[in-house]
Amino acid sequence: MSIVHISVEMAPIAKVGGLGDVVTSLSRAVQELGHNVEIILPKYDCLKYNHVEELQEKESFGWGGTTIRVWNGKVEGLNVHFIEPQNGFFWAGCIYGRRDDGHRFGFFCNAALEFLLRSGRRPDVIHCHDWSTAPVAWLFQESYKHYALSNARIVFTIHNLEFGIAQVGKAMANANMATTVSHSYAQEVSGSPAIAPHRGKFHGIRNGIDLDIWDPFDDPYIPVSYTAEQVVEGKRAAKSELQHRLGLQQVDKPLVGIITRLTAQKGIHLIKHAIWRTLERGGQVVLLGSAPDPRVQNDFVNLSHQLKNSHNDMARLCLTYDEPLSHLIYAGADFILVPSIFEPCGLTQLTAMRYGAIPVVRKTGGLNDTVFDVDHDKDRAQSQGLEPNGFSFEGTDAAGVDYALNRALSAWYDARDWFHSLCQKVMEQDWSWNRPALDYVELYYLAKK
Ligand code: ADP
Repeated sequence: MSIVHISVEMAPIAKVGGLGDVVTSLSRAVQELGHNVEIILPKYDCLKYNHVEELQEKESFGWGGTTIRVWNGKVEGLNVHFIEPQNGFFWAGCIYGRRDDGHRFGFFCNAALEFLLRSGRRPDVIHCHDWSTAPVAWLFQESYKHYALSNARIVFTIHNLEFGIAQVGKAMANANMATTVSHSYAQEVSGSPAIAPHRGKFHGIRNGIDLDIWDPFDDPYIPVSYTAEQVVEGKRAAKSELQHRLGLQQVDKPLVGIITRLTAQKGIHLIKHAIWRTLERGGQVVLLGSAPDPRVQNDFVNLSHQLKNSHNDMARLCLTYDEPLSHLIYAGADFILVPSIFEPCGLTQLTAMRYGAIPVVRKTGGLNDTVFDVDHDKDRAQSQGLEPNGFSFEGTDAAGVDYALNRALSAWYDARDWFHSLCQKVMEQDWSWNRPALDYVELYYLAKK
C-alpha cells in the first residue's frame, strides 16, 4: 500500500509537539511493515537541515500565482518532499505563530496535492493531520478526486481538538476515515459538534513511541546505558549526572521530572502545586518546559527565582526546549508528572516508562489508557494483559495531585525494593508503534473498501 502524509510538523526537523513525533514514528513503523510511505512538508527556513540527508531540488512547477519548488531528502530513513513556494510563504517564522498561518497552510495543502497529481504519484491513502492540513480533505474532494488521484482515500487524524475546530469539522465531513490518538480521548470528544455527526468513521488509535529514538540502552544523551535489569544502576548514574549538570545537590532523594509545553492544557496550577509538595516532602524537582504565552513564561521565570532563593539545590526550572536534556531527565527522574487537564494521548508518560521513570498522571484521555494505578487499576490493567504501572488521580484540584504524588513519594521512601521492581516492570512494557501501526494499516484498508 502507498501512503502519503501531508503534515506541517515532522520530528526531529520541524517539531513543536507530539504531532511531529507521530508523523515520523508512525511512518517508520508502517514502512517497516513493508508499505511505501512518503511525507510532504513545508520547506521552512528553520528546518533542522543537519538531520536531512541527500537533500536535492527535484522539480518545480508554476501554480497559485508563483513557482513551487519541490525538494527531496531522507529524514530518519523516510522519503520526504519539501514544498517551497517562491512567494515566501514558509521562509519567515517557524511553523506556527504567524497571523497568516491558516492561509499559508491552506496554500501548502493545495500545493502538496498539486505536486502529487503532477508527479504521477498515485497513493492509496493521503493522511493529513490536525487543523493545519485538514484542508487536504476538502480540497481533495472538491478538486482532485475525479482526476488521476481518484484511487486515493483521505484519512484525517486529530492530535488535539483544542485547535482549529472549524477546519476539523469540515475535514471530518470530507475524510473517508478519521482517527484520534487514544480510545479515551475519542470517547471524550465524540459529542463535540465537529465530530458527533461523523462518529461512524471516527476511531481511537493510541500513539506509540519510537524505540530507536527513545532507548536507554543506546542513548547518546545519558551517561550509562541500561536495560530493565540494570535500571537501578543506570538511573542512579543518570540522576547523578542530571544533578551535577543542573547544580542540584547530589543526594539520594526522589526526583520528580516534568517535561512539557507550559499551557493551560498541561495543568499549570497542578504543576506548580506539585513542585512545592515534592519539595515539602524532601524530594527534588526538575522542570523542562517552554511557554508559548510570554505571560506564562514570565510567571515561571518568577517562580524559578523564588525557588532559587528557597530551594536552590533541590529544584531547577529549565524554561526552554531542549531535546537532549529531556533524555537525561527521563533517565534520571524517579517519577514523571503529567497532570494534564486533557490529553489526547500524551507521549511523555510512555517515554518515561521506557526509561524506567514512573508516571504520575491525571486520569484523562491517553493518560487514562496507558497508565494503570498500582492501587486502583489492577483489573483494568489485567484486561489488557498488563500490570499496573503508575499513580493517577482524578479531579483538577490540589487534593487530586496530592493523592497521587503522596502515594508515589511514600512508595519511594518506604518500599524501595518494590519501587525498583516497578521501575523494571514498566521498562518491559511495550509502548512502541508495533501494535498501533497494525491498527493504522487495518484502518487504511478499511478506508479503501
Ligand atoms: P503535546 O504534543 O501536547 O506537547 P505530547 O506528550 O504528545 O504533548 O508530546 C510532547 C513531546 O514533546 C514529548 O516527546 C516531550 O518529551 C517533548 N517535549 C515537551 N516539552 C519539551 C521541552 N521543553 N524540551 C524538550 N522536549 C519537550
